[in-house]
Amino acid sequence: SKVLITGANGYIAMWVIDFLLKAGYSVRGAIRGLDKTKDLNDKFSSWVASGTLEFIVVKDVTIEGAFDDAVKDVDGVLHMASPVVVDADDPQDVINPAVSGALGLLKSALKHGNRVDRVVFTSSTATIFAPVTKPTVLNESNWNTVTLEEVERLGRAATSHQKYRASKILAEKGQSNSFSLAVWEFYEANKERSRWDITVINPPFVFGPALNNFENPAHQNASTRVFWDNVIANPGTPQSVNYPNCWVDVREVALAHVLALQKPEAGGERLIVSVGPFVWQDFIDIASTHLSPLKTHQFPHHEEFNGYLPKGYPDIEKNHLLNYDNSKALRIFGPELTYRTMEETTKDILDDYAVKGW
Ligand code: NDP
Repeated sequence: SKVLITGANGYIAMWVIDFLLKAGYSVRGAIRGLDKTKDLNDKFSSWVASGTLEFIVVKDVTIEGAFDDAVKDVDGVLHMASPVVVDADDPQDVINPAVSGALGLLKSALKHGNRVDRVVFTSSTATIFAPVTKPTVLNESNWNTVTLEEVERLGRAATSHQKYRASKILAEKGQSNSFSLAVWEFYEANKERSRWDITVINPPFVFGPALNNFENPAHQNASTRVFWDNVIANPGTPQSVNYPNCWVDVREVALAHVLALQKPEAGGERLIVSVGPFVWQDFIDIASTHLSPLKTHQFPHHEEFNGYLPKGYPDIEKNHLLNYDNSKALRIFGPELTYRTMEETTKDILDDYAVKGW
């Protein structure tokens, strides 16, 4: 069968495409311009040559009907395209493509998705997140109640992370009582007349090797860049290495998207796909002690470490207060979804840096 994936050149999407092609699917990748296909052509050249992977240009996802052609004659849709922690002054510049892209896609699927039976929407645990001061486990019934108020109050002064979180909340849930925005509201209002249902995947921070040929560390996507900055380049302060969040390997997130197309029980569910809590110091401990030293010339700014990666602050008391309950996805996806350990992911990341010559 055939699957449409939007944002096909993205970090997670490249892995999803890899899984889909290897599982025998045909793939239509939506991108913003043909100049975005370089990594996809490099990585999947034989599938492009055989027509198993094709591309469609959707230049502006905010235009009404932008996805009308893209959704025709596909059996499933994965919507991943969304701005991820970008520099934008006006919060609307982040929110608008996230919200109207998602809604536009659903409207197109409703009208023109002649074969679609499942739409998978990539949301985020940003929509669930809460600031915590004691050990807390959040699950799919929780919603982030702080960010929209913050962004409303701060406006342009809100951080890029706050604007991003707001865009994901507004895309998945909408404003609490409006009934015209957001994925779940649109689905509820139209499910009697749509031939498809929806699965939402909520990953926390996604790390792991990249199929993209990022030219240098600064060109990575937001989450792999932030990993590089905090674990490799500059484990700044005892506070910064102790920043609490949860993580998941990119390959498990990708697999979850494929399983979400396949498992009937995933229909109508939002699913947290997360390994568990981390602070940067956890990854620093592994990178700096358990693995062979990387070459000093790859890290000229680390000469003082004799070629070893920085040790950060090994003695801090780690803050693992926030966790996301991952049991629902494990139940629905079954044994096909098993999470890599932090050691495995860290090793694969460092190997990937070496391949990329960093
Ligand atoms: P990438 O930045 O690698 O990919 C983002 C994709 O979205 C690219 O294809 C990009 O296209 C496209 N995109 C960005 N802005 C727009 C826009 N205004 N209009 C149309 N397309 C746009 O990010 P990831 O692979 O990390 O993220 C993919 C999805 O996963 C996103 O929905 C993100 O919110 C979600 N996610 C990611 C997490 C992470 O830690 N990485 C965690 C949780 C959720 P272009 O190249 O043209 O800019």
